[in-house]
Amino acid sequence: MNAAGKGSGGGLSKVQASDALPLPIRHTNLLFSALFMASLVYLMRRWREKIRSSTPLHVVGLAEIFAIFGLIASLIYLLSFFGIAFVQSVVSSSDEEEDFLSHAKTSACSAPSPCTLLGPSEASSEKLPEEDEEIVSMVVAGKMPSYLLESKLGDCRRAAGIRREVLRRTTGRNLDGLPLDGFNYDSILGQCCELPVGYVQMPVGIAGPLVLDGRLYYVPMATTEGCLVASTNRGCKAIAESGGATSVVLRDGMTRSPAVRFPSARRAAELKAFVEAPENFETLSMVFNRSSRFARLQGVHCAMAGRNLYMRFSCSTGDAMGMNMVSKGVQNVLDFLQDDFPDMDVITISGNFCSDKKPAAVNWIQGRGKSVVCEAVIKEEVVKRVLKTNVQSLVELNTIKNLAGSAVAGSLGGFNAHASNIVSAIFIATGQDPAQNVESSHCITMLEAINDGRDLHVSVTMPSIEVGTIGGGTQLASQAACLNLLGVKGSNVDTPGANARLLATVVAGGVLAGELSLLSAQAAGHLVKSHMKYNRSSKDITKSVA
Ligand code: ADP
Repeated sequence: MNAAGKGSGGGLSKVQASDALPLPIRHTNLLFSALFMASLVYLMRRWREKIRSSTPLHVVGLAEIFAIFGLIASLIYLLSFFGIAFVQSVVSSSDEEEDFLSHAKTSACSAPSPCTLLGPSEASSEKLPEEDEEIVSMVVAGKMPSYLLESKLGDCRRAAGIRREVLRRTTGRNLDGLPLDGFNYDSILGQCCELPVGYVQMPVGIAGPLVLDGRLYYVPMATTEGCLVASTNRGCKAIAESGGATSVVLRDGMTRSPAVRFPSARRAAELKAFVEAPENFETLSMVFNRSSRFARLQGVHCAMAGRNLYMRFSCSTGDAMGMNMVSKGVQNVLDFLQDDFPDMDVITISGNFCSDKKPAAVNWIQGRGKSVVCEAVIKEEVVKRVLKTNVQSLVELNTIKNLAGSAVAGSLGGFNAHASNIVSAIFIATGQDPAQNVESSHCITMLEAINDGRDLHVSVTMPSIEVGTIGGGTQLASQAACLNLLGVKGSNVDTPGANARLLATVVAGGVLAGELSLLSAQAAGHLVKSHMKYNRSSKDITKSVA
């Protein structure tokens, strides 16, 4: 049995340092204590007799030699091992207040999964220093919560390495393919990810140049879907060879909607009237705007469900995506309103009328984050040469697929071919919150034949692109490099908010290119062929057919 112990009965046995002893510690302690006392008493008696009979002390018999040996051996044992139980008892009692993680670990191990505890030497990919080995044993034994490693060690890389080894021993599975080194774990502490054990590698491809509003952008896309970057790149080429795309930002405001309850619907309606009254806007914005020098209240839009009131606050947030900022502002207002509406019961700061990371008509209709329209006119010749199709087929396909097809499906904001493909890839590359892909991918793609049916007018309208260039994952090295490539890294000193708005237009431009190319592939019947070329190892090409 190894020192880390084995799980028994599906549970996790506590690992003790004394597990190294051949007998239970209580018995071993008793045995050596008795040996010590017996040897000592025997030797003392013998020495007293020798002194009385004037026999030299160094003349010893066999029994005395055994007694001396027993005394030394028991002394060594008592000095080295006797303290173990005491130390163990101190260590075990001190961690009890914060052991939800060890509970989680224990219950994870109780599951009927193949949860075999491994020892330090079993299939370990790297040898840990001795002091780390001790910490691993403590975490495995539930004596130190895993989430405290960073603060206790003051070394984030070391904490991640130890946590990873704990995971390996607890699950019996190694994480060899998940890299540990080559990442700055300090940069995510308290901001991006808790309990790290490594990082996932994503390839980043470049589509472009995307010619947008007279400037050239090389668009970074993090994806593992073959064909996606190549396809978007082809769309960029068609746009560039037709003179480029243009964009317009219709609105820019992040929203948060607390849910509050009153004793009656009448009282809820009174607060609704109060917050929506134009004469109260100045007071409310003064209170709201205290949250940040970048947060500026734009308006409050209310909805009711019985005696519950949902107040959708909207504010500009500079270059930040803005969820933290708007939440702080809303909290200020709630505290302020509580004085005049003492019967207001705040149920939650986020009552889903916001609406964050869920498909919702409110975002589709009213917008959230940046509302952007991006358009281009693709010349007939480019449609033929680059996109390998013709204007009429494209327009017809768009009507039947993106408009009628999505209507038949009862789609909410999904009147497009694959906006979320491009949105997700750019989001991941630039450190956005990938979960906000849900509403950020709302998009209606319009295709029309113009100039007597020769050329193609294409547009994407995206009402809720939620992006920032400061805060969250945007400050991590790789993501910041991708933002830098686009020239939108960090805060825009001259015009706060300009970087984030520019990024939103690049997202829309990328979607425009992606829509053009995928629709063209479908119109020309090339889709399966190109997927077989770029995505051969994928068994299910329908995943990326959109
Ligand atoms: P979010 O609100 O998107 O969650 P964070 O709160 O993480 O973003 O980051 C925004 C922080 O960055 C705020 O503390 C804000 O004061 C600061 N900041 C600095 N420059 C800007 C800027 N140009 N726009 C927005 N925030 C900025």
